[in-house]
Amino acid sequence: IKNTNPFKKLNDEIFVYVAKKQKEIDELKRLEQFRREFLADVSHELKTPIFAAQGFIHTLIDGAVDDENVRDKFLAKAAKSLDGLDALVKDLVALSQLETGEVKMNFDRVDLRHVTQDIFEQLEKITHTKRISLQLKAAHIGPILVKADPQRIAQVMTNLIENAVKYGNEDGRVLVALEDDKKQVVVSVRDDGPGIPPEHLSRIFERFYRVEKSRSKDRGGTGLGLAIVKHILNAHKAKITVMSKLEKGTTFRFKLEKVD
Ligand code: ADP
Repeated sequence: IKNTNPFKKLNDEIFVYVAKKQKEIDELKRLEQFRREFLADVSHELKTPIFAAQGFIHTLIDGAVDDENVRDKFLAKAAKSLDGLDALVKDLVALSQLETGEVKMNFDRVDLRHVTQDIFEQLEKITHTKRISLQLKAAHIGPILVKADPQRIAQVMTNLIENAVKYGNEDGRVLVALEDDKKQVVVSVRDDGPGIPPEHLSRIFERFYRVEKSRSKDRGGTGLGLAIVKHILNAHKAKITVMSKLEKGTTFRFKLEKVD
């Protein structure tokens, strides 16, 4: 029997409209919640280096400046706190632009071998101090070309390799492998460091999440490195995975599209 209720169509339309509006309201609420949490996290993280630098400077003003040894030590500590603040602000700007989708990726041909070698050179000082050996294993001789945003992908590789060195053991080894998988290059960064406890693994890509707060901050970490990595790879339609075994080490892996 044909439905002859003249209001049925109107009713259905109203229902669809209300459901759509409700969805928009939910999305706005989610964004507002996100914004509020982000602001709270950021103010908390900014306060730490600011308070530290303030403390050292005020102690100097209050008289510590007269003792040469104390003066140099406190000045160095204040400078270190401000360097940390500088790194934090830079990472924050990068992350907030990525999160709001403000940045456009500039895709180009990128040689991952070259990118990796550049980063190895930049890390020479710290790897030398910790006696860590950096190794590159590539699928073939010559350039390893992928389609990517050159600067952003260099940032991803830097963050991952720097973490491997930072959290890795002294006398350890960091291996960057660039392997072939059909039309893609599989990139992996492996260390033989202390590993990440399984209960933390799913959270390390969240902003400001740190496994060991003090250790990470000691090593100059902002807690944003992996969140930035995840967002950049997202924009490359690449997913990052992590495998880790306590006392054995950690491996991060993702794939990028090959180009000729
Ligand atoms: P951070 O600036 O603190 O290094 P990240 O976002 O880069 O922040 O990393 C988040 C946390 O994940 C770190 O604080 C550290 O606890 C852990 N982590 C990252 N990479 C490694 C690694 N290769 N080995 C062990 N722990 C790691």
